[in-house]
Amino acid sequence: MTARTPASSTRTALVIGGGIAGLVAAMALHKAGIEASVYEAYDDAVPRGRGSGRGGGMTIAPNGQQALEAIDAAQTVRAIGTPVTALGLRSWTGRHLAQLSPPEELPATRFVWRTELYEAIARETANREIPVHRGKRLLDATDTGAGVTARLSDGSLARADILIGADGLRSTVRKLIDPTTPKPHYAGTLTFTARVPSTELPSTSGVLYMCYGKRAYFAYQIFDDGSAAWFANLPHREPMTSAEAQAVGAGEWLKRLGEAFASDRTPAPDLVRDTPAEDLLITGPTETMPPIQTWSRGRMTLIGDAAHATPPTSGQGASLASESAVELARCLRDLPPGKAFKAYESLRRPRVDRILKHTTATPTATSAAARTATPKPAGPVSRALRDALLPVATKVGGAGGAVWGTWQFDHRIDWEERVG
Ligand SMILES: Cc1cc2nc3c(=O)[nH]c(=O)nc-3n(C[C@H](O)[C@H](O)[C@H](O)COP(=O)(O)OP(=O)(O)OC[C@H]3O[C@@H](n4cnc5c(N)ncnc54)[C@H](O)[C@@H]3O)c2cc1C
Repeated sequence: MTARTPASSTRTALVIGGGIAGLVAAMALHKAGIEASVYEAYDDAVPRGRGSGRGGGMTIAPNGQQALEAIDAAQTVRAIGTPVTALGLRSWTGRHLAQLSPPEELPATRFVWRTELYEAIARETANREIPVHRGKRLLDATDTGAGVTARLSDGSLARADILIGADGLRSTVRKLIDPTTPKPHYAGTLTFTARVPSTELPSTSGVLYMCYGKRAYFAYQIFDDGSAAWFANLPHREPMTSAEAQAVGAGEWLKRLGEAFASDRTPAPDLVRDTPAEDLLITGPTETMPPIQTWSRGRMTLIGDAAHATPPTSGQGASLASESAVELARCLRDLPPGKAFKAYESLRRPRVDRILKHTTATPTATSAAARTATPKPAGPVSRALRDALLPVATKVGGAGGAVWGTWQFDHRIDWEERVG
C-alpha cells in the first residue's frame, strides 16, 4: 500500500442535502478523516427531493455499487437490491425489439425500492456517527476565505472549512456559487413511478423492460414474489410543478395513464390497473439541466444532481452522484480546498459529460430509451423505422448481441491512490 500523505488542510465540511449524494459524501469524507455534518431541508429520513418518496424504485448501476465499495458501503445496496439480469426493449405492439445483456465481469445492476435505499444509506451514515441535521434548509452562505458560514432556516448558523452543495436539481448552493447559473428546462413530460404489491402477470425473471408506448414511455420489471415496479413518462404540453401534479390526485393520474396506454399491447395497461393509488409516486415534471459551467468557487463546490443531473431514464443519476462524492473526498483528503476542487472537476467532468451526451444525443438502443423523456412520442413512420432498425442495430458489434452499458458501468475508483 502507498504511504498515506499527511491529512489535508480541510478538517471540517458542511454538506447541504441529505439525499444520496450528500450522505455518500459525508461517509466518504469521514473515511478521509474529515469531519462532515449534513444539513437536510426536510424532517424525514426519506427526503422529498427530486423523485423521492413512497412508490418509486430505481436501479443502481455497477459503477455506483463500486463507488460505494470504495467507502465500504456497497452492502447497503446489495442487501436490499434485486439483480437486473438484462435490459429488454419492446414496441407498443408487444414485439420484443432487443435484449441487452449486462457485462459479465461486473456486479449486476440492482433494482431497489427508493424508500429502502434511503433508509439503508441513512442507517449506514448513523452507524458511522455522522451528524445529520434534518429540518434545516440552507438559506445563504458566506465564504470568509478561511471557511464558510451557512445560514439555516431555523435561524442557526453552521461553520466549517468548506461547504458542499448536494442539494439536488434546484440547488441553492449552485446559485450562491454562480448567480447566472442556468435553470432546469421542462422536457414536456410528467414522470410517475409505482410499486405494484401484487399482480397476476408472470415474473420477467430479472429483465427490466423499456417500452416505446404509442403515446407514452413505460418501463417495468415484475419480480418473482408477484410484485412489480414501473415508471412512465406522460407527455404533457403545459409545465406543472410537482405540487400541482400531486394536487391532481393519484386516482385521476392512474385513470389518465390507463387511457394513455390503452392501445399498447404490453403489460402497461394491466400494471397501471393493478396499482393502488397510495403506491403511485407522482414525481412531477421531467426536467433537463443545461451543463453547469461553474461547479466550485472559493470554498464551496457541488456534487450529484446539483452539478450534473441526468435524465431519470439514464439509470445513472444516483451512481454518478456516488462516484462524485467519493472522488471529491479523495481530492480533499490529499489536497488543500482550491486544488482539491480543481482536481475533482478534472477527474469528473469528462466522465459525466460523456454520460450526459450519451443519454441525450447518441442513437443507441439504451440512449434511445433514455431520450424518451422528450415530449413528442414517435409518429407512425418513425415508429415503424425504429421497430425495424433497433433489432439490427443492437446485433451489431458482437456475436452474443449488444451489451448493456459497458463503458458506463466499468468504472472503479481506487481509494488508496493519491490525488495530485
Ligand atoms: C422518477 C425518477 C427515476 C429515477 N431513476 C433513477 C434510476 O433508476 N437510477 C439512478 O441512478 N438514478 C435515477 N434517478 C435520478 C436520481 O434519483 C438522482 O440522480 C439522485 O437521487 C440525485 O441525488 P442527489 O442527492 O444529488 O439529489 P436529491 O436526491 O435531489 O437530494 C437533494 C437533497 O437536498 C435537499 N435540499 C434541497 N435544497 C436544500 C437546501 N437549501 N438546504 C438543505 N437541503 C436541501 C433535498 O430535500 C434533498 O433531500 C431517477 C430520478 C427520477 C426523478
